[in-house]
Amino acid sequence: MILEIFSSGPADTNAYLIACSETKRAVVIDVPFESTETILSRAEELGLSIQMILLTHSHWDHTAEVALLKNNLSLPVYIHKEDAGNLESPGSDKLPLFFPVTGVNPDGFLTDGQQISIGNLNIEVIHTPGHTPGGVCFYLPKEKVLISGDTLFRGTIGNLSFPTARPALMWASLKRLAALPQDVKVYPGHGGPTTIGAERWIAHAQERFQ
Ligand SMILES: [Zn+2]
Ligand SMILES: [Zn+2]
Repeated sequence: MILEIFSSGPADTNAYLIACSETKRAVVIDVPFESTETILSRAEELGLSIQMILLTHSHWDHTAEVALLKNNLSLPVYIHKEDAGNLESPGSDKLPLFFPVTGVNPDGFLTDGQQISIGNLNIEVIHTPGHTPGGVCFYLPKEKVLISGDTLFRGTIGNLSFPTARPALMWASLKRLAALPQDVKVYPGHGGPTTIGAERWIAHAQERFQ
């Protein structure tokens, strides 16, 4: 597996380029402001063929250049249905935008338990509402990798004061992540990687944050 991280935009949001080393088929997860050019040139350097854009959630710092990348390569875009409205009409979730973001109509919806094949890679969708209603994590069980979006960061969790955040759902989502194998490496939407084992506390996150 090839895994490349691109941190960009005013919120230092991580975009991920994940590819099957054998088939060179790739997927881009989240497309922050000023990330497209770098992602495209790196993909070309590695000889990768990007198949689709997957989104962890609809916040502007993760979707700012979805339209740009989508139009550049005619890529399909997938997001959970409960975050789709805010992708189509950025800011409709009442979270203020810091600059204009082009809306995108998704080509399909991600569902909990869905399996996505990229070459020989198998990516499983885990619906993790809480930070947003349609937040998801992407899990590669064989490679022991979790792309956690803004659900889980190293040592902390995503903001729960935003208009569409639901703390009770977040505690349940984190309990699900806590049940993954301890040696799963976690790649968050902001900041550096961690592991499920290093974040054992998320099984009882409610006690820490309430
Ligand atoms: Zn977010
Ligand atoms: Zn974010």
